[in-house]
Amino acid sequence: MILNLAVFLCTLTAMEGIGYLAHRYIMHGWGWFLHRSHHEPHLGALETNDVYLLALALIALALVALGRAGHAPLQWVGAGVAAFGVIYVIVHDGIVHRHWPFRPRPRNRYLKRLYRAHMLHHALKGRDNNVSFGFLYAPPLRRLKQQLRARQRG
Ligand SMILES: [Zn+2]
Ligand SMILES: [Zn+2]
Repeated sequence: MILNLAVFLCTLTAMEGIGYLAHRYIMHGWGWFLHRSHHEPHLGALETNDVYLLALALIALALVALGRAGHAPLQWVGAGVAAFGVIYVIVHDGIVHRHWPFRPRPRNRYLKRLYRAHMLHHALKGRDNNVSFGFLYAPPLRRLKQQLRARQRG
Protein backbone atom coordinates (compact mmCIF):
# COMPACT_ATOMS: atom_id res chain seq x y z
CA MET A 1 0.00 0.00 0.00
CA ILE A 2 2.82 2.42 0.92
CA LEU A 3 4.57 1.54 -2.34
CA ASN A 4 1.38 2.20 -4.32
CA LEU A 5 0.94 5.54 -2.62
CA ALA A 6 4.56 6.43 -3.38
CA VAL A 7 4.10 5.52 -7.05
CA PHE A 8 0.92 7.62 -7.15
CA LEU A 9 2.56 10.69 -5.57
CA CYS A 10 5.72 10.41 -7.66
CA THR A 11 3.60 10.24 -10.82
CA LEU A 12 1.56 13.25 -9.75
CA THR A 13 4.76 15.24 -9.16
CA ALA A 14 6.41 14.03 -12.35
CA MET A 15 3.31 15.02 -14.31
CA GLU A 16 3.93 18.70 -13.53
CA GLY A 17 7.35 18.38 -15.18
CA ILE A 18 5.93 16.41 -18.12
CA GLY A 19 3.08 18.90 -18.40
CA TYR A 20 5.55 21.80 -18.46
CA LEU A 21 7.59 20.18 -21.23
CA ALA A 22 4.49 19.20 -23.22
CA HIS A 23 3.07 22.73 -22.92
CA ARG A 24 6.35 24.36 -23.92
CA TYR A 25 7.56 22.07 -26.68
CA ILE A 26 4.43 20.30 -28.01
CA MET A 27 1.48 22.61 -27.36
CA HIS A 28 3.56 25.69 -28.26
CA GLY A 29 5.38 23.64 -30.94
CA TRP A 30 3.87 21.32 -33.55
CA GLY A 31 0.69 20.98 -31.48
CA TRP A 32 -0.01 24.73 -31.58
CA PHE A 33 -2.94 24.22 -34.00
CA LEU A 34 -4.83 22.57 -31.13
CA HIS A 35 -3.57 24.73 -28.28
CA ARG A 36 -4.08 27.99 -30.19
CA SER A 37 -7.78 28.02 -29.33
CA HIS A 38 -6.76 28.48 -25.71
CA HIS A 39 -4.84 31.65 -26.51
CA GLU A 40 -7.73 33.28 -28.38
CA PRO A 41 -10.87 34.98 -27.09
CA HIS A 42 -13.03 32.40 -25.42
CA LEU A 43 -16.42 31.48 -26.81
CA GLY A 44 -17.84 28.51 -24.95
CA ALA A 45 -17.15 25.88 -22.32
CA LEU A 46 -15.17 23.71 -24.75
CA GLU A 47 -12.25 24.53 -27.01
CA THR A 48 -10.03 22.58 -29.42
CA ASN A 49 -7.34 22.65 -26.74
CA ASP A 50 -9.44 20.17 -24.73
CA VAL A 51 -8.17 17.45 -27.08
CA TYR A 52 -5.06 17.44 -24.87
CA LEU A 53 -7.20 16.72 -21.84
CA LEU A 54 -8.92 13.90 -23.71
CA ALA A 55 -5.51 12.45 -24.62
CA LEU A 56 -4.47 12.64 -20.97
CA ALA A 57 -7.63 10.79 -19.91
CA LEU A 58 -7.01 8.05 -22.49
CA ILE A 59 -3.40 7.62 -21.33
CA ALA A 60 -4.59 7.36 -17.71
CA LEU A 61 -7.23 4.77 -18.63
CA ALA A 62 -4.74 2.73 -20.67
CA LEU A 63 -2.28 2.71 -17.76
CA VAL A 64 -4.96 1.61 -15.30
CA ALA A 65 -6.09 -1.14 -17.71
CA LEU A 66 -2.49 -2.36 -18.15
CA GLY A 67 -2.00 -2.34 -14.40
CA ARG A 68 -5.12 -4.40 -13.85
CA ALA A 69 -4.06 -6.81 -16.58
CA GLY A 70 -1.05 -7.80 -14.48
CA HIS A 71 1.56 -5.07 -14.83
CA ALA A 72 1.10 -4.23 -11.17
CA PRO A 73 2.06 -0.69 -10.26
CA LEU A 74 0.90 0.79 -13.56
CA GLN A 75 -2.64 1.38 -12.32
CA TRP A 76 -1.15 3.74 -9.71
CA VAL A 77 0.80 5.54 -12.40
CA GLY A 78 -2.53 5.86 -14.25
CA ALA A 79 -4.21 7.12 -11.08
CA GLY A 80 -1.47 9.76 -10.72
CA VAL A 81 -1.97 10.89 -14.32
CA ALA A 82 -5.75 11.05 -13.76
CA ALA A 83 -5.33 13.00 -10.50
CA PHE A 84 -3.11 15.53 -12.29
CA GLY A 85 -5.83 15.91 -14.94
CA VAL A 86 -8.53 16.50 -12.35
CA ILE A 87 -6.47 19.03 -10.37
CA TYR A 88 -5.52 20.74 -13.64
CA VAL A 89 -9.16 21.09 -14.68
CA ILE A 90 -10.18 22.49 -11.30
CA VAL A 91 -7.25 24.92 -11.02
CA HIS A 92 -6.71 25.93 -14.65
CA ASP A 93 -10.19 25.82 -16.14
CA GLY A 94 -12.14 26.54 -12.97
CA ILE A 95 -10.12 28.90 -10.79
CA VAL A 96 -7.74 30.57 -13.27
CA HIS A 97 -9.89 30.92 -16.39
CA ARG A 98 -13.34 30.65 -14.80
CA HIS A 99 -14.84 28.69 -17.68
CA TRP A 100 -17.55 27.38 -15.42
CA PRO A 101 -20.96 28.80 -14.58
CA PHE A 102 -19.90 29.17 -10.93
CA ARG A 103 -16.63 31.01 -10.43
CA PRO A 104 -14.43 29.88 -7.59
CA ARG A 105 -11.90 32.58 -6.69
CA PRO A 106 -8.20 32.10 -6.00
CA ARG A 107 -8.17 32.80 -2.28
CA ASN A 108 -4.96 31.48 -0.80
CA ARG A 109 -1.43 32.60 -1.63
CA TYR A 110 -0.56 29.50 -3.62
CA LEU A 111 -3.60 29.82 -5.89
CA LYS A 112 -3.14 33.57 -6.29
CA ARG A 113 0.46 33.01 -7.39
CA LEU A 114 -0.62 30.31 -9.89
CA TYR A 115 -3.31 32.65 -11.16
CA ARG A 116 -0.94 35.58 -11.73
CA ALA A 117 1.74 33.33 -13.24
CA HIS A 118 -0.73 31.87 -15.71
CA MET A 119 -2.03 35.31 -16.61
CA LEU A 120 1.56 36.17 -17.57
CA HIS A 121 1.49 33.13 -19.87
CA HIS A 122 -1.60 34.61 -21.52
CA ALA A 123 -0.10 38.13 -21.65
CA LEU A 124 1.71 37.17 -24.86
CA LYS A 125 -0.62 36.13 -27.64
CA GLY A 126 1.56 34.15 -30.00
CA ARG A 127 3.02 30.69 -30.04
CA ASP A 128 6.69 31.64 -29.65
CA ASN A 129 8.80 33.10 -26.86
CA ASN A 130 6.20 32.68 -24.17
CA VAL A 131 6.84 32.34 -20.44
CA SER A 132 5.35 30.41 -17.51
CA PHE A 133 4.46 27.00 -18.94
CA GLY A 134 3.89 25.25 -15.63
CA PHE A 135 0.42 24.31 -14.44
CA LEU A 136 0.54 23.58 -10.74
CA TYR A 137 3.87 25.07 -9.79
CA ALA A 138 4.76 28.68 -10.52
CA PRO A 139 8.23 30.17 -10.12
CA PRO A 140 8.45 33.54 -8.30
CA LEU A 141 6.46 36.16 -10.21
CA ARG A 142 9.42 38.53 -10.19
CA ARG A 143 11.41 36.05 -12.24
CA LEU A 144 8.53 35.42 -14.66
CA LYS A 145 8.08 39.16 -15.21
CA GLN A 146 11.80 39.53 -15.95
CA GLN A 147 11.55 36.72 -18.49
CA LEU A 148 8.45 38.30 -19.99
CA ARG A 149 10.17 41.67 -20.43
CA ALA A 150 13.19 39.99 -22.00
CA ARG A 151 10.92 38.13 -24.46
CA GLN A 152 9.02 41.28 -25.35
CA ARG A 153 12.28 43.05 -26.12
CA GLY A 154 13.63 40.12 -28.10
ZN1 LIG B 1 -0.10 28.03 -23.75
ZN1 LIG C 1 -4.65 29.01 -19.73
